[in-house]
Amino acid sequence: MLKFKSMWLFLYINIYMKPITDWTDDTQRHRFYNSKAWKDLRTLQLSNEPLCRTCMRNGTYKQAVDVDHIIDIVVDPLLRLEISNLQSLCRNCHSQKTYKSVQSKIEESREKRKIKPVTKWKT
Ligand SMILES: [Zn+2]
Repeated sequence: MLKFKSMWLFLYINIYMKPITDWTDDTQRHRFYNSKAWKDLRTLQLSNEPLCRTCMRNGTYKQAVDVDHIIDIVVDPLLRLEISNLQSLCRNCHSQKTYKSVQSKIEESREKRKIKPVTKWKT
């Protein structure tokens, strides 16, 4: 039993207490989303702004279920706990924002590598 406890302590110290160094790494980012600091701030944001911001802009009212970083934490991790960088969104609007963000990163990456999308196959 003692051995089991020390294994968890070892994992806690060596994995969970290490500062996050790579925000593009899903595992490290997952630790942030599981932190008490994020969960508390998320709850506060949803109580401050219970309706989806994007839907409201479009004249409809829908309950928000997600809290989104306006400036992505991969772009600026220092803004991860900044409440002014948060917005409440419904699942649909959050998925659309994430999809657009991924698409623009793919485009950016292609631009950097100068890969042009194939429009016509040579026969
Ligand atoms: Zn919405």
